[in-house]
Amino acid sequence: MTAIPNVTLNNGVVMPQLGFGVFQVPDEETTAAVASALEAGYRSIDTAAIYGNERGVGKALAASGLPREDLFITTKLWNDDQGKDKALAAFDASLDKLGLDYVDLYLIHWPAPARDLYVETYGVLEKILASGRARAVGVSNFRVPDLRRLQQHTGVTPAVNQIELHPALQQHELRAFHAEHGIATEAWSPLAQGAVLQDGPIVEIAGSHGVSPAQVVVRWHLQSGTIVIPKSVTPERIRQNLDVFGFELSDTEMTAVAGLDRGLRTGPNPDTLN
Ligand code: NDP
Repeated sequence: MTAIPNVTLNNGVVMPQLGFGVFQVPDEETTAAVASALEAGYRSIDTAAIYGNERGVGKALAASGLPREDLFITTKLWNDDQGKDKALAAFDASLDKLGLDYVDLYLIHWPAPARDLYVETYGVLEKILASGRARAVGVSNFRVPDLRRLQQHTGVTPAVNQIELHPALQQHELRAFHAEHGIATEAWSPLAQGAVLQDGPIVEIAGSHGVSPAQVVVRWHLQSGTIVIPKSVTPERIRQNLDVFGFELSDTEMTAVAGLDRGLRTGPNPDTLN
């Protein structure tokens, strides 16, 4: 298997460009799914406190016998735990459930604008970063004005903004802002939870390379320079989503996928999720 490419984050920390997500996987099924992913060759795992499966992730990590430094573990702070009174305890609880001394990336899950606590919360993440218990910190679902506000009021540029991004929602404005400010773009629901896998151009490109539509979409993300974390609980798909280094999309094919942008959200809108 070809090695997974890395992205160097703005603080020098190296992150695999292709990882494994576990949203909506029940805790008791998560250990098997993550074990399958590690067996297939994934080393980056994306979870969150709200997924309720950090324990399941931790069990798979411990059972794998892989050296900690070979793994890249991301988790996220839930909205209810924003604010300086709660965020640190929530981080401690996540570490405890994961069975880890540190995470590689810790994210504020949503800006939750009606709470108006993310600037204060980010200050807690900066302290966690300084303590060495997160190797990098960042945000998720932040909009351009949220990122500008962090810039004005905090000292550490987020290493990553993890956003909904797939062929049907290409997020050009945010990606341009990230590129300008050294923030890595990480795509959640990179397969649009399956909603783009029947799109004509994707099916056609898959046929011409002898690969699956999901492999075309993962490849499109990699060639676009985004970090991508497809989820599956199906061992064959888990392997397939990583087997994307034996073909390349041409410029014409990249353009054809770019043409599928249609503002389709499969998840919540950051304007209204609180
Ligand atoms: P994805 O876009 O990764 O799609 C997952 C769905 O696609 C599942 O139904 C899966 O089925 C199916 N699938 C996976 N691989 C294939 C394949 N090769 N062929 C056909 N179908 C396939 O959705 P997610 O929403 O899970 O997003 C990925 C990750 O992003 C999450 O797990 C989570 O880590 C993160 N995320 C973060 C959010 C945030 O707010 N920060 C929000 C949402 C997600 P099956 O499992 O049955 O095989």
